[in-house]
Formats: sequence, structure tokens, C-alpha cells
Amino acid sequence: MQTIRSRFGIKLFLSYFVVILVGMLVIAITANLATPRAYARHVYFMEQQLSGVEPGMGQGMGQGQGMGQGQGQGQGQGMGSGMIADFYENFQNSFNESLIIAVLAASIVALAVSYVFSRNILAPVRVMTVASQRIAEGHYDERVELRGNDELHQLAGSFNQMAEQLEQVETMRRRLIGDVAHELRTPLTAIKGSAEALMDGVLPASSETYSQIHAEAERLSRLVDDLQELSRVESRATQLNIHPTDSNAMVQTVSKRLQHQFDEKQVSLILNLPRDPILLPADEDRIIQVLTNLIGNALQYTPSSGAVTVSIERDKNEARFSVVDTGFGIPSDHLRHVFDRFYRVDKSRSRAHGGSGIGLTIAKHLVEAHGGNIWADSKGENLGSEFIFSLPLAK
Ligand code: ADP
Repeated sequence: MQTIRSRFGIKLFLSYFVVILVGMLVIAITANLATPRAYARHVYFMEQQLSGVEPGMGQGMGQGQGMGQGQGQGQGQGMGSGMIADFYENFQNSFNESLIIAVLAASIVALAVSYVFSRNILAPVRVMTVASQRIAEGHYDERVELRGNDELHQLAGSFNQMAEQLEQVETMRRRLIGDVAHELRTPLTAIKGSAEALMDGVLPASSETYSQIHAEAERLSRLVDDLQELSRVESRATQLNIHPTDSNAMVQTVSKRLQHQFDEKQVSLILNLPRDPILLPADEDRIIQVLTNLIGNALQYTPSSGAVTVSIERDKNEARFSVVDTGFGIPSDHLRHVFDRFYRVDKSRSRAHGGSGIGLTIAKHLVEAHGGNIWADSKGENLGSEFIFSLPLAK
């Protein structure tokens, strides 16, 4: 019973079977009821006809009366081959008649049974059709509620999952538009404010004012670049150019690029690299991008005279990169959000250096595209932070 309930194919097969069975049953019953009546009626007509033509039949009917009196021999001769043919014909007619009635009755019953069955079987399909129409109209919270576990109910389950995904995508899309509008508004307001102040003569037309406007425009264009990059990595449009890559070389490249900024801020950059470089399958440019973001952040959120240590170590089948700083740290309730899009622990501090809160989101996507993981750790405020990411040694 459980198997029947859980298999749509068996249900369909059984419903056909039941319809045919019911049809046959109705034919049998109707034929049983209708044949004797039809036959009696035909025989009655035949008798009428025979009595109508009595004179012509002379012998026949005379002996027909004799039949009742048990004169068997005379009867056989009297009925003759013509009468037998009549009997056959009447039997045939009565049989055909009852067959037509039986087939008609069976068809009506079969139609009714098929209608009830198909209604029940197709009920989940109808529910899903209505729900999908509602979703197409933008009601993403629509779900189908069905009990059972046959294939159609499993389909309904998948349908609900799909609807949930669509709802999430829609929510993310709305939030993204809101976030982007919010992010664009800040530099735009600053540019607009400075331009108006210039026009009103409130701000002097000095190089300082112009460089202020330029800095805001720079921030705006950086934000647009970051957004473009984010949309590429989120839609997985970025093609990774994977080849064997030297892990030490990547860290050294980033260190060279950022050394000047470290010197300027008087933060030491310590590299703790393995003697034998680890070779791993990776897109060099993308991992350099991740390291630049992590080491750049560490520098950004570490005050002067602090230190940033970059280490690589082999751990089973993966290489682990860690960037540890002695900076502002991250409170524990913020830790799990730092990879969220536009998330900033300290908004004013992050904005001050033009941070958009997208860098770590992009880094996470890039590391995951390599089959790796990334996470953050911190002992608390002003106790420094640690960002770790792992990459598999073989794909
Ligand atoms: P942003 O461009 O604002 O730095 P990120 O996505 O790179 O954006 O970082 C998100 C937020 O995570 C930052 O705004 C900052 O609050 C926090 N953060 C990232 N790295 C560090 C770090 N090394 N120390 C403290 N906070 C950090």
C-alpha cells in the first residue's frame, strides 16, 4: 500500500486497470440483465409474425400447437430450416441490442470513474500550476502544500525549494539595489555639496577644494569597479586560469607592492614562509588579489608601530595562508558578518580610507571558486585579527 501511495506510475497504471475492470463488470451485468429481456421480446415478435402468416405456414403452425402437446417429431419437421434461421437472427439481434446497451452503460460508468480518478491524480498538478502562475506574477512567497510522497509530491517539494531560492534571489536583489543606492549616495552628496559650496562662494576655489572633490570622485569610481568585480564573481563569470603556482612567490609579490605603504605607516610586515615553496593549482592573479585585500586590510586596521605577519603552512591536503595583525580587532558578534556584502564593523573608520565593504566578499568568492575556505578570527577589540584561507593542493 505504501509503495502504491509513493509511486505515481503505479497509481496511473492501477487507475487504468480499475477503469477497464469497472467497464467489463458493467458490460457483464448489463448484458446479463438485458439479454433475456431482449431475447424474450424478439421471440415474442417472431411468434406474432408466425401467427400472422399462419395460413401460409399451414402445417408449420398446426404442428406448432401440436408442439405443446409433445409431438416432437412433427415439430422438427414443421419449424424447418426457415424457422431455425429466424431463431438465429432473433438471437443475434437480441444479443446485439443488449451489447449496445451494455457498451453504452460501460462507457458512461468508465467516463465517470476516469473523471474522478484523473481529478484526484491531477490535483497536485493543478495546485502547482496555480502556484507557478502566482510566482510568475511576482508573489515569491507562494508555496504548495501537499501531503504524500509519490513523484508528483516530490516534484512539489522541488517546486517549493525553487520558489524559496527565487524568493532569496529577489530579496538579495532588492537589498543589493538598496545598498548600492546607499553607497553611491555618500560620495555623490559630498561631490554635490562641494560643487554647490563652490558656486555659492562658501568654499574657496582652491586646489584643496578641487582635490577634495577629486577624492570623492575617485571613491565613486572605486566603488563602481568593486561592484563590477563583485557582480562578476557572484555570477561566476570569472574564468579561473588555474596552473601550478608558487605560494611563496605570490605572498612576496604582494609584500613588494605594499611595502612602501607599510613603511609610510610604520607598520612592520613579517613574512613567515616555508623553506620549500608549496606548489598548488591556482589562478595566480586571483590569489594575489585575495592576499592584497587581506594584507591591505590588516595594514588599514592596524595603528602605527603595529605588525602584520603573513604565514603559509601545509596542512594535510591543503595550503593555509594566514594574515595576522596587531590592530583594532573585530568584536565576536561581527566576525561572522565581515564577509557579507557592504558589511563594515566600524563604518566611519572603513569609509575614512574609502572602504566599500565589498573586498572580503570578493575574496570569499574567489577562494571558494578555487575549492578553498576562508574565515576570520579575533580575540576582541584592539586585540588584533586573523584572516585565514586554505587552498587544496590538488584539484
Ligand atoms: P572594506 O573595504 O570596508 O575594508 P572589506 O570587505 O575588505 O571592506 O572588509 C569588511 C569589514 O571588515 C571592514 O569594513 C572592517 O570593518 C572589517 N575588517 C576587515 N579586515 C579587518 C582587519 N584586519 N581588522 C579589523 N577589521 C577588519
